[in-house]
Amino acid sequence: MKCHCGKEAVVYLPYSKRYLCRNHFSTLVEKRFRRAIRDFNMLKKGDHVVVGYSGGKDSAVLLYLLKKLSAKMPIKITAVSIIEGIKDYRDQEVENELSKLPESLGIKHIFKYYKEELKLTIDEIAKKVRGSVCSYCGVFKRYILNETARKLKATKVAIGHNLDDVVETLYLNLIRNEPLRLVRYFNPIYKEGGFVPRIRPLMYVPEKEVALYSMLHNLGVIKECPYAHKSLRYFIRKQVNAMEERFPGTKFKLLRSFISLANELSRNASVKLNRCKRCGALTTSKLCMKCQMELALKGEKVEDYL
Ligand SMILES: [Zn+2]
Ligand SMILES: [Zn+2]
Repeated sequence: MKCHCGKEAVVYLPYSKRYLCRNHFSTLVEKRFRRAIRDFNMLKKGDHVVVGYSGGKDSAVLLYLLKKLSAKMPIKITAVSIIEGIKDYRDQEVENELSKLPESLGIKHIFKYYKEELKLTIDEIAKKVRGSVCSYCGVFKRYILNETARKLKATKVAIGHNLDDVVETLYLNLIRNEPLRLVRYFNPIYKEGGFVPRIRPLMYVPEKEVALYSMLHNLGVIKECPYAHKSLRYFIRKQVNAMEERFPGTKFKLLRSFISLANELSRNASVKLNRCKRCGALTTSKLCMKCQMELALKGEKVEDYL
């Protein structure tokens, strides 16, 4: 099959019934990346962006596109890789491997270790919790990235969430009856109080297209985390993919709905923020998520702090 320009197609996009060649496909991804940045005022000239860089396709594409953008919009970029402490998953060899892309792009790259930041590795956490450690990892990684950005006086934290990730997260919030999270997701209110605003410039790019883009541009891929497991998110992912298969364009429509909902809610809802009683971070509850998790891991009672 051929692209509209006559070149051999590398992809078919069912939601727009188009065949695209390598160049036109890349242009499309890059356009969506820039549009998301514009739509949500994610970046401005002079920003210092800390990029959560795991070496997976999403964060590799994010790093690559930000570097490309920086030619037109002067921004400072620092890539941060968080080493969780998973035996046989990230060893020295993997760390060297991880450094290759930032190095080739001329981007400053630093490592942060669970062991140093939290005094615990994910392997140790996994021994203490029943079921999934992924939710712990999510909260702790967010914490470490934010702390790193704060210490570097960075103005933004960029994460490689693609369209699929964003839709799943928002879906999960609805299932958990946490619709106000939608508001905070799109309109971060915690610009002060130690939180560095988080941006997700790949939110308009479907996962499959991030994967194809990373393949076409030879951007590093690291194997899946051995702790990845079949959580509720996994089932949502399957459902959303099935809907997309049957009704192409569903993911884009869901995202648009979530954005409208967030805008609608933000007019009425005021999200009240408190200081965490244990660490002082801003939170909607009495203790921040990171402290709640640390207490659970230490076997201490949350009530002692309330
Ligand atoms: Zn073409
Ligand atoms: Zn706290």
